[in-house]
Amino acid sequence: MTQLSLAYIFQHQKLLVDENFQLPQVEKLASDLPIHQNDQVIARDLLEDEAIPEGYQLIPIRELIQSWSSSDFLQASRAVQLLEWRRNHKFCSHCGHATEVHAKEYAMVCPACAYHQYPRVQPCIITIITKGDNEVLLAKSAHNKSNMYGLIAGFVEVGETLEEAVQREAFEEVGLKLKNIRYMSSQPWPFPSNLMIAFHAEYESGDIQLQLEEISDAQFFKFDQLPEIPFKGSIAHNMIMQMIDSKTET
Ligand SMILES: [Zn+2]
Repeated sequence: MTQLSLAYIFQHQKLLVDENFQLPQVEKLASDLPIHQNDQVIARDLLEDEAIPEGYQLIPIRELIQSWSSSDFLQASRAVQLLEWRRNHKFCSHCGHATEVHAKEYAMVCPACAYHQYPRVQPCIITIITKGDNEVLLAKSAHNKSNMYGLIAGFVEVGETLEEAVQREAFEEVGLKLKNIRYMSSQPWPFPSNLMIAFHAEYESGDIQLQLEEISDAQFFKFDQLPEIPFKGSIAHNMIMQMIDSKTET
């Protein structure tokens, strides 16, 4: 009897699921990436000649964040990031030789020089900036054509602390100085392989000055007069809701 494995089958950032967002079961191949060594869960990129089983379709994983529990979404996000890492490390970055998959660890190993390449995450800060007890700074991305207002976010640079990254991004994007920077939470974000690290900061000084290549509008909004905000399940949405709850509790 063939043993079937539960499979995360991706085509880029789309995942194969049925109409109830359940994963298919497939025969395991040697090229599959094990996700749970013992639980028979694997991940693979949709093979070129692989037929999509009846009743299944490819759904962008961004959409699954709203249908799945956060632990299910995190598992899928882990699978897609590991696959992407493996796809992008077929050659040794030190000597250029073709790499091999490590038998036990998530590592791509160079048989020529023994260099090990491990999966990496990109730390990215995201900051909710408040002013007084009932205003929050929200910014509209210049790259996004929608009317959605989000939070200030950006990659941590080499040699920088997280708090410095928060200050730098706020100053670059909207020209504001912040105070009382406090850690809130974190969330892996597989687009493509970020770790979002959430902070709350209070407005200290400055007038809003937009970095127009990045931000097309930014304003302090009253909690009860918010514009369209990021979708439920995103860390930005959670941060905004958490802040409103904590400030409106009496
Ligand atoms: Zn090498």
